[in-house]
Amino acid sequence: MSKRNSIPKKIEKLLFQEVGSRCPVCGQIDVTTLTIHHIEQYATNPMHHPSTMIVLCANCHAKADRGEISKAMLYDIKKKANIVSPKSSTRSKINVKGVANVVGENVHIGGDVRINVHTGKKRLTKPIIPGSVSEDVRKIGYLEYLVKRYNEFKKWECESKGQEMKYFLIRRAYEGELKYQVKDTPLNLFEDAVNFLQRRIANTMLGRIKNKAGARLYSDFENFDKK
Ligand SMILES: [Zn+2]
Repeated sequence: MSKRNSIPKKIEKLLFQEVGSRCPVCGQIDVTTLTIHHIEQYATNPMHHPSTMIVLCANCHAKADRGEISKAMLYDIKKKANIVSPKSSTRSKINVKGVANVVGENVHIGGDVRINVHTGKKRLTKPIIPGSVSEDVRKIGYLEYLVKRYNEFKKWECESKGQEMKYFLIRRAYEGELKYQVKDTPLNLFEDAVNFLQRRIANTMLGRIKNKAGARLYSDFENFDKK
């Protein structure tokens, strides 16, 4: 029997939540047609990793298998399938991404829809994706600590080279590598995320200098929040 049958229920649930239980490509809402697609060919990459899996209807699944829907598009959909942008600090404005704008026939997949919501006295909190690092205060704290650390190192490098510091670049690289925004990273990718950020810190100019001098580049997870 195929190992495909053994997709853990937790991952299945996460993937359905990610797309709001509808096909993120064509908008099909009949759940009986919804299937889980391995973006990386399962035969050559036999693992159930939510970052490389997506819910699609049977039609779109077949198209994806034939390469008519590209991997890049599927990863892009996954990236945008999260509901509120981390940058929306004002309560009156939220960015609705992903699912909302891929359902309609004429709406461009991958585009952003910006909606102003008059919230009155209601509080809007950022939704936490179940199973993501945001459920664990210390884990999301450590990832944000490493991002900050990287930017401190990079800023030093940019200043010494007279270049403009671009704070968003590390997050863009992170999303390219992990396929998730920092806050939405699945808990099972935490170690990968830590390794990625630590590697990036070590690869900065300051990181290499400090390494050579035997200096520590960052606190480890156990100690980062201890003063
Ligand atoms: Zn579909």
